[in-house]
Amino acid sequence: PKKESLNFIEQIVKDDLTAGKNGGRLQTRFPPEPNGYIHIGHAKAICMDFGVAEKFGGVCNLRFDDTNPQKEDTEYVDAILRDIEWLGFKWENIYYASDYFQQLWDFAVRLIKEGKAYVDEQSSEEIAVQKGTPTEPGIPSPYRDRPIEESLELFAKMNTGDIEEGKMVLRAKIDMANPNMHFRDPVIYRIIKHHHHRTGDTWKAYPMYDFAHGQSDFFEGVTHSICTLEFVPHRPLYDFFIDELKEQKDLDDNRPRQFEFNRLNLTYTVMSKRKLLALVQENLVDGWDDPRMPTVCGLRRRGYSPESIRKFINMIGYTKYDALNDYSMLEAAAREDLNNRALRLSAVLNPVKLIVTNYHPEDKDASEEMLAVNNPEKEAEGTHAITFSRELWIERDDFMEEAPKKFFRMVPGKEVRLKNAYIVKCTGCKKDAKGNIEEIYCEYDPESKSGMPGADRKVKGTLHWLSAKHCLPAEVRVYDKLFSVENPAVDERDFRELLNPDSKKVVNGYVESYAALPGLTRYLQFQRIGYFTFDDDSTSDHLIFNRTVGLKDNFAK
Ligand code: ATP
Ligand code: MG
Ligand code: MG
Repeated sequence: PKKESLNFIEQIVKDDLTAGKNGGRLQTRFPPEPNGYIHIGHAKAICMDFGVAEKFGGVCNLRFDDTNPQKEDTEYVDAILRDIEWLGFKWENIYYASDYFQQLWDFAVRLIKEGKAYVDEQSSEEIAVQKGTPTEPGIPSPYRDRPIEESLELFAKMNTGDIEEGKMVLRAKIDMANPNMHFRDPVIYRIIKHHHHRTGDTWKAYPMYDFAHGQSDFFEGVTHSICTLEFVPHRPLYDFFIDELKEQKDLDDNRPRQFEFNRLNLTYTVMSKRKLLALVQENLVDGWDDPRMPTVCGLRRRGYSPESIRKFINMIGYTKYDALNDYSMLEAAAREDLNNRALRLSAVLNPVKLIVTNYHPEDKDASEEMLAVNNPEKEAEGTHAITFSRELWIERDDFMEEAPKKFFRMVPGKEVRLKNAYIVKCTGCKKDAKGNIEEIYCEYDPESKSGMPGADRKVKGTLHWLSAKHCLPAEVRVYDKLFSVENPAVDERDFRELLNPDSKKVVNGYVESYAALPGLTRYLQFQRIGYFTFDDDSTSDHLIFNRTVGLKDNFAK
C-alpha cells in the first residue's frame, strides 16, 4: 500500500501517541461559536479535528463555544449540526461551554481568594490605554491591589444584575510588564445582560474566550486542542490557566495542548462571520444559504458535494503560514468530483429555433427517441431517452452566419453533428427587420444517426439540442464570484462596495423533460455548459437550477 504522508499536526499526534502522552489517549474537539453559519474555513478546521481523530483512533467532540449570549442563537446551533453531518462527520458528544459556567465561576472565585484576580472598575478604554505597548510596560490599574474581600463581593454583584454592563470586569492579576500583551492582567469576566439561549437569565457575568476555552478543553479531557494561527499568542495564557486549574502537576502531565495551523482565506470572498451576517441582514445576498456564500449550506445549495469540499481541503493542506488560496482551486476540486458524479443532461440556456426542414415534412409532429448516456465515466449508470423532432432549440451562440475558420458549429453550408442524433447541414436562417436571427434551417442525413455506418463521417463539432415540443422551461441561475476584488478582506473600502454586481444572473432556458423525473441525483451536468443542481425551491412545475461551476476554468476572466 502507498505510504500516506502526514501533515504536521498528524505527525505531532502520532508522536504524542507513540510517546504515551496523556495516557496514549487522543481527543479533539471542534469548537464553533454559535453566532453564525459555518463556512468553508470552518470546514477546513472540521476536516482537521474530526479527520485526525478518525485517522488515529481517537474521538472528536463538538463543543459550542457559547460564552457571548448577545450574538448566539439556537438557530445557529441547529444549522452547525446539520452542516457538519452533511460534510460527513460524526461527533462523539455534544458539549457546550455554558455547561461549565459554574465550574469557571468557582475557578474565578478561587483565583480572587488566592490574590490572583481582582475586580476592576475602569472602562475598557482606560484598561486598553494602560496595557501599554509590547516594548513598554503597562500601568497597573488603581484597583489592582484592592482587598480580596472587596473583589469577592463585587464579583458576586457582577452576576446579580445590579451592576451595569461595562462598569466592572474581573481581571487576572498576572504581569503588567510581560512582553506578551495577553499576560497584562487580561479581562476574564464581563457583564452581559442578555438572555442566554441555554442558561437563560441565570448568569449576568460571562467568561472571556481565554478564560473559557482552555479550561473547557481540560474539563472534557481534550488532548490536542487544534486551532488557527491567530491563537499562537494566546497559547502561553492557555497553558497558564490550565496550570492554575490543575494546582498540582501530575506525573504524566495530563493536559490539553494547543496546536495551530493556517486558516483558510479564499480569493473573491470573505470569511468573517460579522461580514457574512451583514450580507444576510442587509439583504445583499438571499440568506445564509445563498449559493454565492462561502458557507457550507451555500456551497451545498450551489451544488457542491461534501466530497468536493473535502477534496479541496486536501489539495490545499495544512501549514504554519497564512496564505490566500485561489477560489479556482475550489472550483477545480468540484469539477474533478462532479465529473464522476453528475448525470449528463441537455439544456439550452440561450435558445434559438433550429428547423430540420427535411425531417418528415409530411408529418410535422413526427419524433423519435435517441439514447443519451447518463455518465460516460460510469457505464453502469446506463442511458435515458431523449426525443428528436423537426423543431429544435440550440444555443444562439452556436450559430454564425459568417464564421471564422475555427468555428466548428452551425454555419450555413457546413455540417455539424447533433449529439446522440444526426449529422445536419445548415441551409440558412431567417432574420427579423433588425437583423436578429429568428430561425435557423438545416437538413439532416437520415443515414448518420449515432451507431449507423453513415455516422462515422468526420464532422468537426457536436452541438447539444432539445426538441422544442419535448422539453421544459427552466429558470437557470448563473452565479459568479461574490466580490469583484481578489482580496476583499484586506481592502480599505467597505466590503459592501466591493460586491460583484453581476454575481447572479437569471436566465430562462429549456431542459430535457427527463429532468422533471422524481428521484434524480442532485448532481447534474448540462452538456457543454457546466455543472448544475436543482435549487431548493425547484419543483417539477417550475424547474430552477443553480450553476455550480462552468466546465472550464474561466475564473480569471
Ligand atoms: P469569526 O472570527 O468570523 O467570528 P471564528 O473563527 O471566531 O469566526 P468560530 O466559530 O469561533 O469562528 O470558529 C470555530 C473554529 O473554526 C475555530 O477553531 C477556528 O479556528 C476555526 N476557523 C474559523 N475560521 C477558519 C478559517 N477561515 N480557516 C480555518 N479554520 C477556521
Ligand atoms: Mg469569533
Ligand atoms: Mg472564534
